[in-house]
Amino acid sequence: GDEEVESVPLPLPSISKSSRESRWSDTTSYASKKKLQSWFQLPNGNWELGNIISTTGTESVISLSEGKVLKVKSESLVPANPDILDGVDDLMQLSYLNEPSVLYNLQRRYNQNMIYTKAGPVLVAVNPFKKVPLYGNDYIEAYKRKAIESPHVYAIAHMAIREMIRDEVNQSIIISGESGAGKTETAKIAMQYLAALCGGSGIEYEILKTNPVLEAFGNAKTLRNDNSSRFGKLIEIHFSETGKISGANIQTCKFTTESRVVQCNEGERSYHIFYQLCAGAPPSLREKLNLLNVEDYKYLRQSNCYSITGVNDAEEFCIVMEALDVVHIGKEDQENVFAMLAAVLWFGNISFTVVDNENHVQVIEDEALFTVAKLIGCDIGDLKITLSTRKMKVGNDNIVQKLTLSQAIDARDAMAKSIYACLFDWIIEQINKSLAVGKRRTGRSISILDIYGFESFDRNSFEQFCINYANERLQQHFNRHLFKLEQEEYIQDGIDWAKVEFEDNQDCLNLFEKKPLGLLSLLDEESTFPNGTDLTFANKLKQHLSSNSSFRGERGKAFTVCHYAGEVTYDTTGFLEKNRDLLHVNCIQLLSSCTCHLPQIFASNMLTQSEKPIVGPLHKSGGADSQKLSVATKFKSQLFLLMQRLESTTPHFIRCIKPNNLQSPGLYEQGLVLQQLKCCGVLEVVRISRSGFPTRMSHQKFARRYGFLLLENAASQDPLSVSVAILQQFNILPEMYQVGYTKLFFRTGQIGVLEDTRNRTL
Ligand code: ADP
Ligand code: MG
Repeated sequence: GDEEVESVPLPLPSISKSSRESRWSDTTSYASKKKLQSWFQLPNGNWELGNIISTTGTESVISLSEGKVLKVKSESLVPANPDILDGVDDLMQLSYLNEPSVLYNLQRRYNQNMIYTKAGPVLVAVNPFKKVPLYGNDYIEAYKRKAIESPHVYAIAHMAIREMIRDEVNQSIIISGESGAGKTETAKIAMQYLAALCGGSGIEYEILKTNPVLEAFGNAKTLRNDNSSRFGKLIEIHFSETGKISGANIQTCKFTTESRVVQCNEGERSYHIFYQLCAGAPPSLREKLNLLNVEDYKYLRQSNCYSITGVNDAEEFCIVMEALDVVHIGKEDQENVFAMLAAVLWFGNISFTVVDNENHVQVIEDEALFTVAKLIGCDIGDLKITLSTRKMKVGNDNIVQKLTLSQAIDARDAMAKSIYACLFDWIIEQINKSLAVGKRRTGRSISILDIYGFESFDRNSFEQFCINYANERLQQHFNRHLFKLEQEEYIQDGIDWAKVEFEDNQDCLNLFEKKPLGLLSLLDEESTFPNGTDLTFANKLKQHLSSNSSFRGERGKAFTVCHYAGEVTYDTTGFLEKNRDLLHVNCIQLLSSCTCHLPQIFASNMLTQSEKPIVGPLHKSGGADSQKLSVATKFKSQLFLLMQRLESTTPHFIRCIKPNNLQSPGLYEQGLVLQQLKCCGVLEVVRISRSGFPTRMSHQKFARRYGFLLLENAASQDPLSVSVAILQQFNILPEMYQVGYTKLFFRTGQIGVLEDTRNRTL
């Protein structure tokens, strides 16, 4: 049985382009053998394991479960791995690396609560959607002592610590995956391990406590995930010379235009903190902020969803308040924050009456208006004027234009949104100040990136456009590290290694980034034109970008981008407005003159943007603030800052997989998993890693590290000779390594052998 299977030449994984058509051709000898296990694809797309009973000509008879026997075309069968390889913990070990084998291997492990599997250098994590017994101090201790070998986030975190110390290079753990795949949980698990191993000063506790704060303000219930992060986050954890955690810094990537605060879909919620505040505020605070119940706020009422199964918002509020204490946001600041939250909610209850037949409005003087004015500390009259008029400059004259109902509602919502956006940024700033205490820049760091994954819905808008652009960048980073750098290094070091093809996404990135004719430039340009509309924008794209192979114009206002993870069609409706970020100069002036602590918050965010100006609609009114950046440009610059930080680090990749869309335990949908494995290039990585020499070390380092193991004194020899001597002495097989000009290259697992010997000797 097993030997027969192993003697068959390795087929390429069927996911790679070149082998997609020929997945059977190199394994014909296989079909002629009897009683072999094989995969058969059912009409529903799932794969089932069967035994080949006989093969004649191009047809085979296969027996499936429940006594089913089918005659099928031999070419429709895909070889299965021998039983001995069932559920291996690294996909690299599979003899057959085809789609069903990978899917089955992950599923088999998943069913036994083994949610982690390696795919060469990448860790794959399949979301269990239930508590699995894999965490806590005992496990941390076991991974620390290396008593457990099976793949785990802990093992990745451990490797990051070790490599940071050993190589004196900063590390990063890059976590990606779709919404609900488990990125944020995984990031927390990694942080817990780092805190447990490298804590001591107490700062690690503070770092962990940033999680409940950021989740309260930055996460919301969506249809995909009850605790969906609406921002990308890079947390850089600093280490002292002695390898202890000494501080941290958080950088985020968030849309100021995300409309969730003022509007959200049926069945979803706004940010957790609003519900927590309403449910958990003590009576004195309720009175001070004139708080109502969630159902009484229009912003929260529209989605008809107030609670999350299994979550007690009042209890969560206490946890968040405690966490705010820990991250040194004082009681007074906390109260100010809560007042701003209440103001946002009350903004939504402000209403208007139409006063003429041109649909112009007046603000209704009611509790909502009074409460907002009181909470943000402004004059009621000023607030009324700001919400119902707009100052314009026409030539040299200042005129006052009355707002129509929809304009007034937009102005009101824009104010609420930007208060919230600034509040979020302000909190991050405070946390960073607190976490920077005592940190010296000389130490090393491990960064953890938790960022939105690729999104493709039935209707894709501006947010998906930005998110997918970010993922395109991340994918390039991934590609570069795992494929490109690898290949270049082989070539540079004179290693004989057949070039491996991989899918480069540079064309797609050019489509976004090229100036002046790229998606982002054209979007910004159109956003500055007073007469620009979503349609003129779409037409410009078609006019200028149709020659790019990653772009396709669609009918009307739509266009398609061929992303690395698949084609996505974007509907440009709302693109220009969202990109302009609609806060009018009147509103900014009002908010920055309030007597609450808002001006302080605004000062650092809204009014002092110094980079290259992209002028929004304020341009036409000649407003004072012509320094505003477009939203897409801001997003891009935040993204570039993140990427810059990652650039100089050794990356460790974790790919989170969501096995079903119901957030339900035990349900593993093959099609869904396969699609995600394709999107994140997992299969491609395994193929490349296995065919290459993923471990490498300079001759110097190698000689220094293992030279003392030599029986003969090697002190006088050059590092290259020492290296070769070590390899020979330890009988490392020639096919397991290559000697380059400057480095040694090893197949996976070889360094482990040497390390064992070294550790035994030490
Ligand atoms: P993402 O950040 O990728 O959108 P989350 O990390 O918020 O996804 O995970 C979504 C949900 O899945 C979590 O709220 C939790 O219920 C569940 N989950 C994710 N990872 C794990 C895990 N390792 N163990 C148990 N449950 C998990
Ligand atoms: Mg998340």
